Amino acid sequence: NLILEGKVAVISGAASPRGIGLATARMFAKYGAKVVILDLDEKASAEAAASIGPEHRGFGCNVADLDSCKSAAERAIAEFGKIDILINNAGITQPVKTQEIDPVSWERILDVNLRGVLYLSQAFLPQMKKQKAGSIVCMSSVSAQRGGGILGGPHYSAAKAGVLGLAKAMARELGPDNIRVNCVAPGLIQTDISAGKITEDKKAEIAASVPLCRLGFADDVAAAYLYLASDLSAYVTGHCLDVNGGMHIH
Ligand code: NAD
Repeated sequence: NLILEGKVAVISGAASPRGIGLATARMFAKYGAKVVILDLDEKASAEAAASIGPEHRGFGCNVADLDSCKSAAERAIAEFGKIDILINNAGITQPVKTQEIDPVSWERILDVNLRGVLYLSQAFLPQMKKQKAGSIVCMSSVSAQRGGGILGGPHYSAAKAGVLGLAKAMARELGPDNIRVNCVAPGLIQTDISAGKITEDKKAEIAASVPLCRLGFADDVAAAYLYLASDLSAYVTGHCLDVNGGMHIH
């Protein structure tokens, strides 16, 4: 049988056509899950879900807004009656240097990448606690581990490093409720997040420096999410899974 058969999975930041979130939604559906796509735009989210199949749903949700997260959780639970998996994938970046980080940029980057992980988790945790089961996977980045240097500024590194700490603390706290919390830390993955922010020459240079000699595909990260979301990782919590082609071996 399929490893996500009978599971309901919520994935944030999953409406972007070439993004990691939608690739994950597709892969989870292929392995038997019903998926709920959450992204900023209601229509884009619904269309992304429909593109996978009629049994999936997409709702508008701003992960940086607690009320928005709570209402998305209510709709998802009303639709499917339970939530087995939460993928905190939504994120944004900005390539700037330390002195260029103004208060608005700091808040924007921290709000979506870090606060959003807390708020969306808070919205779904009551249901997972009721079920006494759940798997949460959060998006960190190699930027958190090696101090940026690819795409995001120091505020992005700080936010993604914050995700690692938040996820580990939640893993410790929620273990007794049979809720696991893990992270993925991708290297440079070819999606629209880098569009216009990094030149093709720079990409080729980075690819040449990666031991596996290429940049990552969205599906490379989706497969890591799949493992951590599924019961295959039943005894894994508080872990961070690198998906970087060997770019950062530590
Ligand atoms: P992407 O831009 O294609 O996808 C990000 C999605 O998040 C978009 O659909 C966007 O609409 C959504 N989003 C933005 N703000 C939101 C909010 N407030 N609420 C809900 N949704 C919101 O980029 P991607 O590369 O697929 O990024 C997915 C995640 O992977 C991000 O967290 C990113 O930081 C992380 N990441 C990406 C790479 C990479 O190289 N692409 C590497 C490491 C980590």
